[in-house]
Amino acid sequence: MRIGFIGLGAMGFPMARHLSKEHEVIVWNRTREKAERHAREHGTKLAGDITDCADAAVIITMLPTSKEVDEVVDRMMPSVKEGTLWIDATSGDPNVSRKTAERLAARGVAFVDAPVTGAVVGAENATLTIMIGGTPEDFERAREVLRLNGKTIIHVGPVGSGHAIKVLTNSIMGATVWITSECLLLAKQLGIDMKTALAVTNAGSGRSNASENLLPMRLIEGKWPLIFKLAHHDKDIRIANSLAHQQHASTPMLALTQQLFTASLHELGDQADYIEVAKIVARMNGTSWD
Ligand code: NDP
Repeated sequence: MRIGFIGLGAMGFPMARHLSKEHEVIVWNRTREKAERHAREHGTKLAGDITDCADAAVIITMLPTSKEVDEVVDRMMPSVKEGTLWIDATSGDPNVSRKTAERLAARGVAFVDAPVTGAVVGAENATLTIMIGGTPEDFERAREVLRLNGKTIIHVGPVGSGHAIKVLTNSIMGATVWITSECLLLAKQLGIDMKTALAVTNAGSGRSNASENLLPMRLIEGKWPLIFKLAHHDKDIRIANSLAHQQHASTPMLALTQQLFTASLHELGDQADYIEVAKIVARMNGTSWD
């Protein structure tokens, strides 16, 4: 099958590589050198222009936000073919993706939102969890392709529901990272050794992905790698918050989490990793993790 892959960033680059094992993949990236490298290293076809991806049976976008996806849809719209399936793997906005789906449907193109979780390591190892919004038929078509990228592929509901659950689950993680950092810092200030604090937390009811996997490396070893951009995480939580407003929902914790992450983004800059919010927790207390 011919697949057009648009967006070879941290996630898209390895995802397109896995797809090329069974499919003819044509790649496009805003910064052309990345697409050239992909073609050179993985035998994919280099798109001269983005519209070269338009005659593929499946088009996949893996871009920062729904805004960039919509811009790409605009550029592709005159060239897309009836019967194509558009898979948007971006962590996007369900309100925008529903409109995008309608626009594409008018050209006979099916759309599913298929955001992923599992980080770059999951993309590299093809072990992503993928949550899909779309019709049952389109879900099956998408699953047949995305099985090369993920182990767990879940049909969430109609178009938009994949994007919705993705931003909600990332919001849960954001709040957990923040409260865990606060309490571990307090433990440190109370004179409790960090390894001991983490050992107790991870053997008890405060255990989470944050305490088991994300924070120990940073707080004990002082290593702060860039794994997932805070800018992306902030975007996800802002979308979740806007969905809460739309539902007239009472979600004070979500609102606070969004405020804290947005403030952290302004403070740390758009190249910071999301776990660096722990540094802001320390700064808010006039200290550091060193
Ligand atoms: P990156 O920032 O690494 O890559 C973004 C990609 O989008 C690049 O290919 C970039 O091109 C391209 N791009 C940016 N702006 C435009 C534009 N205006 N027009 C066309 N292309 C553009 O992001 P990630 O790969 O990390 O993330 C992609 C999506 O996946 C995001 O929605 C993110 O929230 C989500 N995600 C990320 C995870 C992670 O751990 N990184 C995990 C799960 C989901 P260029 O090379 O020119 O900059």
